[in-house]
Amino acid sequence: METKDLYKILGVSKKASQEDIRRSYRKLARKYHPDANRDDPKAEDRFKEIQHAYEVLSDPEKRREYDEGPRTFFGGAGGAQQPPRDGTGSFSTDFSDLFGGGGFGDLGDIFGRSTRTRSAPTKGQDITANVNLKFRDALNGVTTRVAVPVEEACGECRGTGAAPGTLPKTCPDCGARGVRSRDQGFFALSEPCARCGGEGTIIEKPCASCGGSGRVRSSRQVTVKIPPGAKDGMKIRVPGRGSGGKNGGPPGDLFVVTRVEEHPVFKRRGDDFVVEVPVSLVEASLGAEIEVPKPQGGTVKLRLPAGTQNGKQFKVRGAGAPRPRGGEAGDLIVKTSVVVPKKLKKREREILEAFDEVHDADVRGDLLRRARM
Ligand SMILES: [Zn+2]
Ligand SMILES: [Zn+2]
Repeated sequence: METKDLYKILGVSKKASQEDIRRSYRKLARKYHPDANRDDPKAEDRFKEIQHAYEVLSDPEKRREYDEGPRTFFGGAGGAQQPPRDGTGSFSTDFSDLFGGGGFGDLGDIFGRSTRTRSAPTKGQDITANVNLKFRDALNGVTTRVAVPVEEACGECRGTGAAPGTLPKTCPDCGARGVRSRDQGFFALSEPCARCGGEGTIIEKPCASCGGSGRVRSSRQVTVKIPPGAKDGMKIRVPGRGSGGKNGGPPGDLFVVTRVEEHPVFKRRGDDFVVEVPVSLVEASLGAEIEVPKPQGGTVKLRLPAGTQNGKQFKVRGAGAPRPRGGEAGDLIVKTSVVVPKKLKKREREILEAFDEVHDADVRGDLLRRARM
C-alpha cells in the first residue's frame, strides 16, 4: 500500500508544471537507475518509486484523480494503480532513453548541446477538460466554449527559464553535453552530469514568473460541439486540440468530459428518462387521460387504464433522449405515484364510507395466507 506523497518522491511542489515533473523525474531516474547503482540495493526500490510517481503525475487525468483523493486512488478498487512490483529487475525505462528528447528541443542548438540531437518528432500530450452543461443543452445539443488547461513557454523568459536579461549558461562541468566521461581503465564510463542534472545548461538566476521551468500554465478556449442527448460523463474527442507536438510531431487530442446538470424532475436511465407523475385516487381507480411533462419541454397525453396501481410504469415511445450517435431516441418512462387525500371533508368521508360498504375488497387476505405457509 502506497502512503508516500508522490510529489515528495519527485521532489516537486503540488503546483509543479508537467515540465517540472518531467525534468525532476529525468534527473532522479538517472540518479537512481539500477544500472548506475549496482552496489546500492536500495536504489532499485527508490527507482521504482520514482517511476511510479512519474507515471501518475505525468498523466493529467491520473494526477487530477490523485490530487482529489490520494487514499481512494490507492485503495484497490475502481481503477486503482499499484506501483510496479515485478521484482525481476527489468525496467521499462531504458537507461539511454533518459538522455534523449531534450525539453528545450530547438533551443538546444543555441546553447551548443551538440550531443543531444536525438530529438525525434513526438506527438503532443492528450488533454482532458470538463465541460458543465445545462440539462436542456445536453439534451438538445449545443456548441460551447471549453477552457482547456495548457502549458506554454513563459513569456517573461521566452521559455528559457532564466531571468529576463540573462540566459542559461553552458554547464562548465560537462561543456553542455549533459554527461561526463570517467576513465575506468580499459573503458570510459559515461554518467549524467551532476552539476546540471544532464540538461547541459545551468540557470544562475531563475525567472521569477515560471520559477526557472520556462513553462507557465494558462488556459485556451476551444469551441466544442456537444451532440444532442449527451450523457453525464461522456468523453468527446476533439482531434488535434491537445498539447502541441515536439520537434514537428503532431499535436495530441483533446478529450472533453461532459458534466450534465441534474434535473429536479427528469432522471436519466440510459437513453430513457424517468418521471414520477402524481395520480389521484379516483384517476387511478377509474382510469383517466393525464398530461405528462416531456424532458424537451411541452407535455404529452397519457391514457391510464382503470385500476392503475401505485408505482406502475408506462412508456411514452421516443420522448426520451436523442442518441448522441444517431438512431431512435429513448423513451420517457412515466411512473405513477397515487396520491391519497390527507384530509377529507364531511361529504367526502360519507361517500368513501358508503363505498366501503359495497366494496368487499380482501386486500390482505393473500398476504396473510402466504405468511402462514
Ligand atoms: Zn519564465
Ligand atoms: Zn553539466
